[in-house]
Parts: sequence; C-alpha cells; structure tokens
Amino acid sequence: MPPAAVVIFASMAYVITQPCIGTKDASCVEVCPVDCIHSDDASEMYYIDPDECIDCGACVDPCPVDAIYPEDEVPAEWSHFIKINADYFKN
Ligand code: SF4
Repeated sequence: MPPAAVVIFASMAYVITQPCIGTKDASCVEVCPVDCIHSDDASEMYYIDPDECIDCGACVDPCPVDAIYPEDEVPAEWSHFIKINADYFKN
C-alpha cells in the first residue's frame, strides 16, 4: 500500500458532537476497544482522541442521542466539533 494511503487512514477518527452535551450517557466509553473516549467532571460532553481512535465504529449504535459520526460525515452545523474533540487532548 502506498505511504499516502496509510497517512489518510491514520488521520480518520470518529467525532462526538452537540447531542452529547448535557447527556454524557457514556455507553460509548464502555464499548470502545482502545479506551480513547474521555471526559472529566468539568466537561459537558465526552471526546474522542483522534490519535487513538481506530475508526471501528463500535461507539455509534450504543449512543442514545446519535451524537457520534465518522469525521467525514459530521453534519455541517457540527463540523467545529472535529476541532473540539481534538483540542481536548492537547492539554
Ligand atoms: Fe473507540 Fe471505535 Fe468509537 Fe474510535 S470508532 S472512539 S475506536 S469505539
């Protein structure tokens, strides 16, 4: 496989969006095989670490508010959540 294809695959991740705010159901956390979904008491939602997510999609169906999307299918009005998820892990 060409190196460029590897880079593209590695950059993919799932993203948690607006409906998680105020919900924080955490069903996604329980099913994630690589434990890359995190939050804390001061945060109003959960976040997916884009560097750790293996793009498996296991977290999508358990979410009761349909908050999780593949990065390239995030609804336009929630596209800023791609950065919000990534930024959580930069501190
Ligand atoms: Fe975890 Fe898979 Fe969801 Fe990524 S897509 S956050 S690896 S369950």
